[in-house]
Amino acid sequence: MKDNFDLVIVGGGILGTSLSYFLSFLNKSKKIAVIEQENNVAQHTSGRNTGKVHAPYLYNPEKKKLFANAAFHGYEMWKEYAKLQNLPFKEDGVIEVALDEKGIKVLEKYLKWGKQNGLEEKDIELIDKKELKKIEPEIKCESALHVHRDGSTDYSILTKSILKDSEKNGINFLFNKKITQIKKNNDKWEIIIDENHKIFADFLINAAGGQAIDIAHSVGVAKNLTDVHFRGEYWKTPKKYHNLTKTSVYSVPEFPDYPFLDPHWIVRVDGSCEIGPNAVPVFSPYGYDTTENIKEFIPKILEMLGSGARKTIFDKQFQELAFSEIQSSMSKSVMVERVKKFLPKINPKEITVKGTAGIRSSVINEKGKFVPDVILLEEDKSFHILNYNSPGATGALPFSAHIINELHKSGLFENNETEVQCGPWKFNEIIEKLEK
Ligand SMILES: Cc1cc2nc3c(=O)[nH]c(=O)nc-3n(C[C@H](O)[C@H](O)[C@H](O)COP(=O)(O)OP(=O)(O)OC[C@H]3O[C@@H](n4cnc5c(N)ncnc54)[C@H](O)[C@@H]3O)c2cc1C
Repeated sequence: MKDNFDLVIVGGGILGTSLSYFLSFLNKSKKIAVIEQENNVAQHTSGRNTGKVHAPYLYNPEKKKLFANAAFHGYEMWKEYAKLQNLPFKEDGVIEVALDEKGIKVLEKYLKWGKQNGLEEKDIELIDKKELKKIEPEIKCESALHVHRDGSTDYSILTKSILKDSEKNGINFLFNKKITQIKKNNDKWEIIIDENHKIFADFLINAAGGQAIDIAHSVGVAKNLTDVHFRGEYWKTPKKYHNLTKTSVYSVPEFPDYPFLDPHWIVRVDGSCEIGPNAVPVFSPYGYDTTENIKEFIPKILEMLGSGARKTIFDKQFQELAFSEIQSSMSKSVMVERVKKFLPKINPKEITVKGTAGIRSSVINEKGKFVPDVILLEEDKSFHILNYNSPGATGALPFSAHIINELHKSGLFENNETEVQCGPWKFNEIIEKLEK
C-alpha cells in the first residue's frame, strides 16, 4: 500500500469522524483519509461512554469555555441530526442531587455556571427536596438541580451515521490500520502503518483520543505534557429497577478537582439503567483487561516518573482517591453503595452484570496538575487535539466545525468559502453561533 493524501486524520472516534464530516462538504477537491486501527468507528471511548448529551452546567465558563460552548450547541445539533436520520435521542433531562449543605452550595454554583454557559430559566432550576419528591419519589437528597435541556443518545450509532455521510462525500476511511510511526520527509508526512506500509500526507490532524499525546510526542509536540488513564466501569441493573426514576441522577462530586468521579444512576436511551462510571487508574488507553495493563505497566510508570505526572502520583489526595477507586473496581458493592446514598431502594446483591467500560485519558502538565480544558496545538503542517474529554461526545459536531474553521482561517485550504451547506446546517451559521 502506498498512497498520497492532502490530509490525514488520525483516529475514527466521534471527534475524527465529525472533523471528516465537515471537511467532506467543505473540501470536496481534497483527498482526505481517516486512519483507524479498529474495524469500525467509535470502538473506544466514543462507543463506551454514558451516552448523555450534557447541558453545560458542570463546567466553569472560565476554565472550560470551549467545552461548555460546544456542549451547549451540540445538544441542538445532535437533536436535529438524530431526528433527520431517525436515530435514538431522548430529551429526558438530568437531576443533580446534593446530599448536604456543602453540596447545595455546589448546586448554586452549577446553576450560575449553567446560565453563564447559555442555559435559560426554562432549561435549569434549583428545587428543594419536597419538590423533587413530587417528580422523583425514590430519590433521597437535600436539594437538586433539575436540568431539562439534557438528553440521552447512543454515540456509537451517531458516529456510524456521520461516517456514512462522510464516506458518501468522498472521505476515505482506512480501517484496521494502526499508525506505528510518523516522520517528516521533504515537507510531507510519512505515516507508517503496522510497521511496514507507508502513507504520505501534506497535513496531519491528530484526533487519536487516548493516544493523542503519544502521537504528538512522536512528532516532537507537547513534550511537556503527559497523560494518565482511568477506566470507567459500569454495572447493569435488573429490569425491576428500570422504572425507579424517569431521569438519570448525578450527585455533586466529592472531590471537585476530580469531577469525573462519583458514579451516577444512568437511564440509557433504550430505557435500561446502569450504575457508573468509577475511575480506576490503568496503564493504557485500552486497559480494559489485566493482560493489556500488565503489558503497559512498566513503560507507563517510567513515562510518568519522568514527567509532571510524578507529582500527581505522589500527591496524597490522588493516592487516596486512586485507592478508593481501585476498591470500587474490586468490590461492586463499594460502587453501588455510592449511588444507594441517593437511591436507597437499590440492592447490591441484585446487581450482577457488568456493563461496557470506557477509558478516560486526562492530560497532566509539568506541574503535575490535571489540565481542565481541551488543548489545541497547531504546529508546522499538523494540528493536535489533546485532552478531549467529557463532554466531548456532546460537543463533537460544533467543536469540529470550530477546528475546521480555525484551519481555514490559517489558510490550510485553497477554498475559503464557508457559506456551505453541511447536512442540515450552513457552516458559517454554526460558526456565528459559536462565536456569539
Ligand atoms: C466513562 C466515560 C463516560 C463518558 N460519558 C460521556 C457522556 O455521557 N457524554 C459526553 O458528551 N461525553 C462523555 N464522555 C467523553 C467522550 O466519550 C469523549 O470525549 C469522546 O468519546 C472522545 O472522542 P475521541 O474521538 O477523541 O476519542 P476515541 O473515541 O478514543 O477515538 C480515538 C480513536 O483513535 C484511534 N487511534 C488511536 N491511536 C491510533 C493509531 N496509532 N492508529 C490508528 N488509530 C488510532 C483509536 O482506535 C480510537 O478509535 C465519557 C468518557 C468516558 C471515559
